[in-house]
Amino acid sequence: MITKPKGTVDITGTDSILWEYVNEVVSTMMHAYNYEYIRTPIFESRELFHRSVGDTSDIVKKETYDFQDKGERNLTLRPEGTAGVVRSFIENKNYALPDIKKYFYNGTMYRYERPQKGRLREFTQFGVEVLGSNDPIIDAEVISLQYHILEALHISNLQVNINSLGDLESRENYKKALVKYLEPHLDELCEDCRERFKTNPLRILDCKVDKDSSILKNAPKTIDYLNKESKERFDTVLKYLDYLDIDYEVDSQIVRGLDYYDHTVFEIVSLDKEETKANVLGGGGRYNKLIKELDGPDSYGIGFACGMDRIIDVLKEIDLYKTVEKQIDCFVMYVSEEEKLYALDIVQNLRLNGVVTETNSLNKSLKGQFSEADRLKAKYLIILNNEDLQKGLVNVKDNATKEEEKVDISEIVEYIIGNL
Ligand code: AMP
Repeated sequence: MITKPKGTVDITGTDSILWEYVNEVVSTMMHAYNYEYIRTPIFESRELFHRSVGDTSDIVKKETYDFQDKGERNLTLRPEGTAGVVRSFIENKNYALPDIKKYFYNGTMYRYERPQKGRLREFTQFGVEVLGSNDPIIDAEVISLQYHILEALHISNLQVNINSLGDLESRENYKKALVKYLEPHLDELCEDCRERFKTNPLRILDCKVDKDSSILKNAPKTIDYLNKESKERFDTVLKYLDYLDIDYEVDSQIVRGLDYYDHTVFEIVSLDKEETKANVLGGGGRYNKLIKELDGPDSYGIGFACGMDRIIDVLKEIDLYKTVEKQIDCFVMYVSEEEKLYALDIVQNLRLNGVVTETNSLNKSLKGQFSEADRLKAKYLIILNNEDLQKGLVNVKDNATKEEEKVDISEIVEYIIGNL
C-alpha cells in the first residue's frame, strides 16, 4: 500500500467541512477589510528565500525543500508566503501605483521539520501583506484583522503577544547589549545557539530548545533599546490597539524566526490551549527593509500568517464542530427506470437553483434510500412513484416532522426553496 509522505495530511470527511467553513470566513473578512486575493507559485528560486527569510534562519538552514529542475534551476518549495508576494509586487512593478497594496493569500507551505501535533511538513497558511505604508494604523489594522478572523471562527480567549525590534539603529544597539549579556553564558546554551551567537545572535531568543532557560528569560529586552522614534512608533501602535479593544501583552521574547522583521512583531495565541508552541495560531511583523533588499524601491511592508491546520485542531475541540456538520437539503427517491428519468430532471433543477440535492445512485430499495437520506441528514425527501407522476405530482416528506404532502411537479423547486 502506498502511504502519504511523512508530515502531510489528507483532509477528508468532517475535517474538509471545517476547512471549507474556515476558508469562507477568512475570505469574507479579508474582503471586508478590502484585501485583494493573490496567488503566487508554490516553488520559487532558491535565492529568493536566502535573501528574504535569511541564510542564518532555521528555515533556510535546515528546513527548505530544495530541488533542481531539468533545466538545472535551483528551486525551493515555498516555506512561507511573504517572500513570494513581495517578489511579485516588485516584479510586476505594483509599487508604481499611487495607493498601498493590500494582499491576502491562502496556500500550502513546506518545511522539513520533525512532524508532531501542530507541526507538519506540508501545512496551509492564510495571511496578508500590506505594502507601501509605514503608518501605525496599518500595524493596528493587520493585527486587528488577524484577531477578528479568529474571533469570527469562535476561537475564544485570544491574546496578541507583541514586541518591537525597532529600526536598524535600535536593533544594532540591542544586538551589542545582547552579545555582551550572552557571552559569559555561552556554554550553557545549546549547540545551535552557540553557532547563532556568531552568525545572528538575535535568533537565540527564538530558540525552541533554550526558550525556557533562565538565561533567555533574563536577557535584555528589545524595547529597552528602542531609540526615541521607534519607541514613539511602538507606543502609537499600542494606543491604536487599545482603541480597537484588542487584548495584547507586550512580550519581550518575541523576535520571530525570520530575518526580515523590524519594528512591530507579534503572535496570536488562544489561552484556552495549553502553553505549547502549538497554541500559537499565527504571527507576523513589519519588514521595512525587505522590499529594497529584494531589489525593489525603498518602501514599507507588514504582514501576518495564520496556520490553518492548527486552527482546525482548535475548532475540533470546541462545540462549533457540531454546528458546521454537513447536511443536505433534499434526497430524491425512486425505484423504477421510468421514475429515474423524472428524478434526473428534478435533481438537476434543484441543484441548478442552489438546493443541495442527492439521489439514489446504487440501485437501492426504498428502504435503503430512506437510510441513506437519514445518514446524509436530508431535510426533505422527494419520493417519486409512477402513479403520482402520471398526475403531475410528487410526494414531499419533511424529514424532521415526518409530515408528507403532494406537490405539483412544476412547483417543486419553489416549494423546497420556500420551506428551507
Ligand atoms: P511562521 O511562518 O513560522 O511565523 O508561522 C505562522 C503560523 O503558521 C504559526 O503560528 C503556525 O500556526 C503555522 N505554522 C508554522 N509552521 C507550521 C508547521 N510546520 N505546521 C503547521 N503549522 C505551522
